[in-house]
Amino acid sequence: MTFTSVLEKLTQRLPLTGEDFVFLLTGLTPGEEQQLYAAARSTAQRQFGNRIFIRGLIEISNLCKNDCYYCGIRKSNQKVQRYRLTKEQILSCCEIGYPLGFRTFVLQGGEDGAFTDDWLCGLLQEMKRRFPDCAITLSLGERSRESYRRLKQAGADRYLLREETADFAHYHRLHPAQMSPQHRQDCLFALKELGYQTGAGFMVGSPGQTVEHLAEDFLFLQKLQPHMVGIGPFLPHQDTPFRDCPPGTAAQTVRCVAILRLLLPGANLPATTALATLDPKGRQKAVLAGANVIMPNLSPAEVRDKYSLYDHKAHSGAEAAEGLRLLQRQMEEIGYTLCIDRGDSR
Ligand code: SAM
Repeated sequence: MTFTSVLEKLTQRLPLTGEDFVFLLTGLTPGEEQQLYAAARSTAQRQFGNRIFIRGLIEISNLCKNDCYYCGIRKSNQKVQRYRLTKEQILSCCEIGYPLGFRTFVLQGGEDGAFTDDWLCGLLQEMKRRFPDCAITLSLGERSRESYRRLKQAGADRYLLREETADFAHYHRLHPAQMSPQHRQDCLFALKELGYQTGAGFMVGSPGQTVEHLAEDFLFLQKLQPHMVGIGPFLPHQDTPFRDCPPGTAAQTVRCVAILRLLLPGANLPATTALATLDPKGRQKAVLAGANVIMPNLSPAEVRDKYSLYDHKAHSGAEAAEGLRLLQRQMEEIGYTLCIDRGDSR
C-alpha cells in the first residue's frame, strides 16, 4: 500500500478498507501528510470556494438523563448548575443572531425530558414563522423515529447525533451499560431516511481509543454517507470519571478532518469548539485541512459557563457570536471569509 494508491482510491470515490484508514492515520511521511492536507483543502475549495459557513449554536438545556463517562453535564454530576432556556429566550437568541448574519440555528442540549414533541414542534413552527429563510439543526440526542418524524414535519432541517465511536466495545467503555451503540446508529439511519441532513461524528483521543477504532468510524461514515460530520478532541472534565485521562491531540483531529474531507467531499465539516479550546490555532488548522463550518456560541451569556462539557470550554472571543469580527479576521489571515448563507451540504 502506498499513499498514492490510497489517495487515488479516495479521488475515484472507491471504498477504502480499514487498513487504508489506519495507514492514513499512522503511515504517512511528513511530506505525504502535507500532500494529504493540500488535497483535502483543494477538495473543500472546489465545493465551497473560500467561504466558511457559520451556525449560531444555542445550548438550550444542560439537563440530561444520560451518564456518559466523558461528559461534564452527565446526570451524576451534582456540581452542575442546571438550566433550561424558555421558548422566549431561545427566540431572542435567534433575534440577536439573525442581524449578525446567522442563517442556521443549532439547538443543542442534553436529553432533557421536558423537551416533548409538542413543546419542540411549537418552538420549531415559531422559529420557521419568524425566520423562514433559516435552517434549523437539532442536536438533542436519541429519540424515537416517530418523534424525529414529527420534528421534521414541524420545520427541523438537520440533526446532529455523533455516533461517538463506531466500535461497540469501545462505546461500552465510554458509556453506562444501558446505553446502546446499535440504537444510536439506528437513529442515524432513521434520520437520514426521514430526509434530515444528517450529521454524525466522533471524539478523537477518547479514553481507550486506538487507530483501529478510528478506522471503524471512517468505515461507518463511509457506509452512512452523512451530510455533516462533527469531530473534536476528547477533553477531560474535572467532575467526570475520566478527569485524569489525557486529552486527544490537535494533530490527530486535524488529520481526521482531512481524511473526512476526501472521503465525503460535499459534507459540512465544522472546525469544532473543542479543537479551538485545545489549540488557539485549531480553527485555522482545521479549515486548512478542509473544514468549512464554524459554530459560534449564541447562547445567552449567563448560561454559557453552565454548558460545560469539558474543562475550559471556549465560549468567548472568536468562539462567541458577538466575536464574529475577530473570527472573520482569523479567517482572512488564511485566505477565507465568513458567509451569510444557510450553508446546505452539497
Ligand atoms: N445530547 C446530545 C447528544 O447526545 O448528541 C447533544 C449534546 S452532547 C453534550 C454533544 C457532544 O459533546 C457529544 O456528541 C460529545 O461528542 C461532545 N462531548 C461531550 N463531552 C465531551 C468531552 N469531554 N470532550 C469532547 N467532547 C465532548
